[in-house]
Amino acid sequence: MAGNASVARLIAGSIPAVQRDIKDTHVLEEADETDVPTWEETQALQTEWGELNAKKKAAAKKKEPFDPADEARFTEVNRLISLRFKKDTAMTLEGNGYKDGPAKWYEDVKDAKFLGQTITVHQKLADKLAEAEKVFLKAVGTEKAPAGGWTRVSSDLRGPGQGLHSYGLAVDLKGGTNPYLVTPSKTSQGATGEPLKRSQAIQDIIDRAVLLVLGKTPDEEKFGEAPAETDKAKRAMLSYDKLEEASNALETYFTLVDPTKKADLDARVTAIAAKDTANRTADDWPSPTTEPRSGPSPPRRTGRRPRRAFSIWIAAWSRPLSVLA
Ligand SMILES: [Zn+2]
Repeated sequence: MAGNASVARLIAGSIPAVQRDIKDTHVLEEADETDVPTWEETQALQTEWGELNAKKKAAAKKKEPFDPADEARFTEVNRLISLRFKKDTAMTLEGNGYKDGPAKWYEDVKDAKFLGQTITVHQKLADKLAEAEKVFLKAVGTEKAPAGGWTRVSSDLRGPGQGLHSYGLAVDLKGGTNPYLVTPSKTSQGATGEPLKRSQAIQDIIDRAVLLVLGKTPDEEKFGEAPAETDKAKRAMLSYDKLEEASNALETYFTLVDPTKKADLDARVTAIAAKDTANRTADDWPSPTTEPRSGPSPPRRTGRRPRRAFSIWIAAWSRPLSVLA
């Protein structure tokens, strides 16, 4: 059976290399249909895979050769599991109303460009991303992209069984390289190159603004966390609300540098005194002498979601950070 599939692959030689590879990894050949294990069989195969994998690792650790019979079985188990995933992929496409079959689907998974990066996605996603790119580039206007571009891709097409990525319908962008996104953590720094120092400084300002303006400690705000809501769609909307609230708080925060706002600042400092672990007085909060005199204009708010005012403004302020710390 496997031999037939190999012949079929050779015949498919006129297909460009990238797509031929995707066909090999994602599309179930007719010749392999009868070899596809049932789900029950697949579960047993996965258990066996785990055992063989452990054996192989143990052998490598002891610098002993892996038993050739085990190696052959390992290859076969891998092949069978992958056939199941390919079959599942075909069924999922069909179950979602795609009637042209996986071969046609994966013909439309090819290299595309997004913000200067090459990605391998289905045409349907490529079209959406092209739209998003237009909107994004219009929004940033003449602003210069950071070194390495606005975004970098860390994952696009994955093997069958790996969610939307395996259909060419998902792409992971290294958000940490985009100054408009803030996730201060060693993990993000390591995985995406997001400068921890910069992000932490921005996060600290957000925390101070949220405390002084909304009266919420960082622990109460949990800025980096999604709102506690089980409904996915609602949670997404609530996330935007949360961002907007913090964005507005930041805007108010920066207005407090104005000497005419001294009474307002004093009142706020008094109101949050019990929550301020740093025990700051009004003098310790941003004042006209320590804040930059000029900055970018406040964010424009539109009634449409998602609201991007917050992130844009944060980015614009990330340069004079040192004077705000
Ligand atoms: Zn992903």
